[in-house]
Amino acid sequence: MKIYNTLTKRKEEFVPLQEGKVKMYVCGPTVYNLIHIGNARPMIVFDTARRYMEHKGYEVNFVSNFTDVDDKIIKKAMEEGVDASVISERYIAECKKDMQVMNVKPATTHPKATEEIDGMLDMINTLIEKGYAYTAEDGTVYYRTRSFKGYGKLSHKNLDDLQGGNRSLLVTGEDQKEDPLDFVLWKPKKEGEPYWESPWCKGRPGWHIECSVMSKKYLGDEIDIHAGGEDLIFPHHENEIAQSEAANGKVFAKYWMHNGFLNIDNKKMSKSLGNFFTVRDISEKYDLQVLRFFMLSAHYRSPLNFSAELMEAAQNGYDRIVTSVGNLNYLLENASSDTMSEEEKKFLEEAKGYIVKFDEAMDDDFNTADAIAAIFELVKFANTHADAGRSREFLTELKNEIVMLSDICGLIVEKKQEMLDGDIEALIEERQAARKAKNFGRADEIRNELLSKGIILEDTREGVKWKRA
Ligand code: AMP
Ligand code: ZN
Repeated sequence: MKIYNTLTKRKEEFVPLQEGKVKMYVCGPTVYNLIHIGNARPMIVFDTARRYMEHKGYEVNFVSNFTDVDDKIIKKAMEEGVDASVISERYIAECKKDMQVMNVKPATTHPKATEEIDGMLDMINTLIEKGYAYTAEDGTVYYRTRSFKGYGKLSHKNLDDLQGGNRSLLVTGEDQKEDPLDFVLWKPKKEGEPYWESPWCKGRPGWHIECSVMSKKYLGDEIDIHAGGEDLIFPHHENEIAQSEAANGKVFAKYWMHNGFLNIDNKKMSKSLGNFFTVRDISEKYDLQVLRFFMLSAHYRSPLNFSAELMEAAQNGYDRIVTSVGNLNYLLENASSDTMSEEEKKFLEEAKGYIVKFDEAMDDDFNTADAIAAIFELVKFANTHADAGRSREFLTELKNEIVMLSDICGLIVEKKQEMLDGDIEALIEERQAARKAKNFGRADEIRNELLSKGIILEDTREGVKWKRA
């Protein structure tokens, strides 16, 4: 399996630190609002990477944090006249709901910054003791960026270029710094803000320190994969490396993975630009499985432009898989024989070729676009070779293969027990009326729609009977 490593700018063979195990950390959202579909992209793509590694037999320890103390959370809390924790707890709960509907597996651990303050104080202390950090007069603790020799290795930036050329990359307005490149580890509280006691001042942590500390606590000093959106490469991940490697004296993460932006009209979707749709907005129009399919239809490192047309295409693509599985279930109900014929065995051998293609695509830096193309080929194969004369064994194998590959992508393609009885019966009545009016196109459409939701119709002499697959 190869992974593109931002650190080396190359695809590298994945060799875990410990055989059979993967330690993976993904930077999670700042919780002051409902998540938008740009935030959903890393959740979906790295969940898919995790699922694929689990499928290959790795035991994945997957940690993803919630940033629950931050200027924006505090501002919102002040506007509502409540505690910051009321805001963060509310949006953590909402985020978890969205994740569940997108079929993003819960992390092994979801630490929260505010519950890890002791670890942050420890690491900041170590950095001060080792000379990598210093305290300013007002109690702010800064990281001495130039003291860390590897600074810039992830973002491939040179310190002097940073200092001279690009002023916007520097944090300004903090004149107690020894050097404009230094960044905050701990800052004094302002009126009305949440704060913690520390040896330096009553205050709160800077943003970057939380990930270094949570990664160390839940995964250890050295991890296999650290991931997040590409906007995090600089300064967030660069600063995490500086903190962790200086404090622990070990290489922090072996592989650095970054997803490309989800754009709208070729601009990054973001809260600050106001050009966003929340996951909740999208769920009003689409099954969130369609959103997941849309995200995986592009390679995770490519930019992806959101549009209604692409979502419609994703809906069609997703439906194609669901309908095929529904059809296989229908055929299974009526299969005439149990065991596979020699011809069917040969067909299955051919079908295995698509599984190999799927694995090859995923082994190539999680190329989900090609992996989904392989699922489509398998679906087409199933649609061609599965008919009423096939054995139960053959149909079951084919179905299981489609379901298994889809499941690695986190796509739920076997719909069960979703429709209410009344809705099913109403559609059956509509189908009967369409048949009476010789509108067979519409009648077939309804049968397929029901099939795609796992409802099987049977036309009997006593009328139409239905059951759930
Ligand atoms: P934030 O809450 O802004 O810290 O973002 C949480 C995660 O979502 C980070 O990994 C970001 O890089 C990622 N992210 C935010 N906006 C986008 C976007 N438009 N496209 C892709 N990833 C994004
Ligand atoms: Zn982080």
